[in-house]
Amino acid sequence: MRILIAEDENISRLRLENLLEQIGFEVVSCKDGLEAWNIIQSEDSPNLLILDWMMPGMDGIEICRKVREQAREPYVFVMLLTSKDNRDDLIEGMEAGADDYITKPFNHNELRVRLKAGKRIVELNEELLSVRDNLEKQAIHDKLTGLFNRHYMVDILDKEFSRVMRYQNDLSCLLIDLDYFKEVNDTFGHNFGDLVLREFSSCLEQDERKTDIAIRYGGEEFMLLLPNTGVAGAKKVAEKIRTTCEKKRYSDGKHSTTVTVSIGIASVKHHRLHESKELLGLADKALYRSKAEGRNRVTVYMKQSSGISDGNRIRENKKLEYLKENLSLILEKTKKSSIESLELLTRDIGGDEHKQHNHDVKRYIMLIGERLSLPPAFIETFKRAANFHDNFKVLMKKTFNAKDKLLHKEERTELEDHPYMLSELIELFDFFANEKSILQYHHENFDGTGYPDGLKDCEIPLGARIFAMADAIVAMLSGRRYKNKLSPEEMVVELADKAGSQFDPMLVSLFFNIIETQNLFSVSEDVLEKAHEKIREARLK
Ligand code: GH3
Ligand code: MG
Ligand code: MG
Ligand code: MG
Repeated sequence: MRILIAEDENISRLRLENLLEQIGFEVVSCKDGLEAWNIIQSEDSPNLLILDWMMPGMDGIEICRKVREQAREPYVFVMLLTSKDNRDDLIEGMEAGADDYITKPFNHNELRVRLKAGKRIVELNEELLSVRDNLEKQAIHDKLTGLFNRHYMVDILDKEFSRVMRYQNDLSCLLIDLDYFKEVNDTFGHNFGDLVLREFSSCLEQDERKTDIAIRYGGEEFMLLLPNTGVAGAKKVAEKIRTTCEKKRYSDGKHSTTVTVSIGIASVKHHRLHESKELLGLADKALYRSKAEGRNRVTVYMKQSSGISDGNRIRENKKLEYLKENLSLILEKTKKSSIESLELLTRDIGGDEHKQHNHDVKRYIMLIGERLSLPPAFIETFKRAANFHDNFKVLMKKTFNAKDKLLHKEERTELEDHPYMLSELIELFDFFANEKSILQYHHENFDGTGYPDGLKDCEIPLGARIFAMADAIVAMLSGRRYKNKLSPEEMVVELADKAGSQFDPMLVSLFFNIIETQNLFSVSEDVLEKAHEKIREARLK
């Protein structure tokens, strides 16, 4: 431990120096009060001081008082050196903040023992401070990655944002989310997932500039705040992170994989923001787009549905695009969760071998697809197909194993991988193909005069015919689409009138039967009878 001796008498100072060096202290010494004060003010000043009471420049008591005023951390232990042994002087010294004193000429052993106590106090205090520092660090840092945590993010973001407002400079926010990270966990286990998170984080830290702030925002989501950086600079940084990640291989000796990232960017100036929350919100929206458009990409937030454009048509189209994008996100999630349910079903049957096989196949698909520069959505579809294929096979294997013990191995393999059976199973997952045909054809007319394809009677899907009629009935009764709201009887007449041209007459007459048997509306028998008659005529034609 270092110790400062301030003593103007040469012999006494030399004795002290020798003795303290013998005990093992690293000694810094000086011979007047001002010099001592300068040393104490320096960065690496010792925390143990022996100050002579009477010195030129500044006396020991004054130095002691000033040290206490500064209340430095860690604590500075002060021992006064005095030839006086008058009680009042002693009290004055202690009141100035000295921890101990010793009278000259001093006894070697006494000094040694007293300094030991001083040293212990200094050490204890240093230890306490380092515990406190650690606790403070833990409170704002993430345990796994060592980056700042989400809790601290709120403070930082506010601080950086008000700095931007004050100095009128810029601030960019990158939200970074690892792609398909759940798959990494599922395939290689949680420990391996943790390793990826740690290595990714240190990669992020390595590349960042001094002023950049890296935060673990959520499980596999990170935030990088770039002070003094506009949207162009942020894009460069993001693109660099993306490409570095793409190339990086994570390995624990047993498993090895790559992971891509999706990034969303927002910048204060570029987006003319006034609140820190907005910055986060827009970056999040941009990240969402990166995900929706196929992942492994960087997106700067862009206002979508408004904007100046010439002509309604373009504006409508843009709005439609935006709506489409939101809806495809729903579909994407649905697809993901149905595959997850399917995987749950095969989890225990398939075993690790199955998982590894599936993972490898998907990897090759991705490599090849990317080499061919196929759109990411295509590659996703191919990968999903591989998922279905492998999971179906596991299920079929179980089914056929149980039932057909007699089959040869080759025969069984043929069964398990037969395209016909696989395609029959996948049809179960072809959620909305039928719904699509209804939406597509619900403006066709029974007589072939409708749109978009001018289909006729049975060419029009039954669902589309039913929907068209049901929709029209509601429209008539509520006055929507038709100029006037029709009464139930008028509606019946109108349906009968259009049976065979707009509507399927068979369906119309079916509906009339329902009205009769279920007393759906108050329609007189007379009106219904005439309507039926009209349809019979129409059908005869
Ligand atoms: P997407 O491309 O849509 O982001 O897909 P994803 O699988 O990455 O997204 P999702 O949000 O569904 O899954 C995130 C996964 O991150 C789920 C969770 O198991 C994993 N995860 C979150 N925190 C940790 C962690 O501390 N350690 C490990 N190993 N995994 C974590
Ligand atoms: Mg003196
Ligand atoms: Mg993710
Ligand atoms: Mg996520």
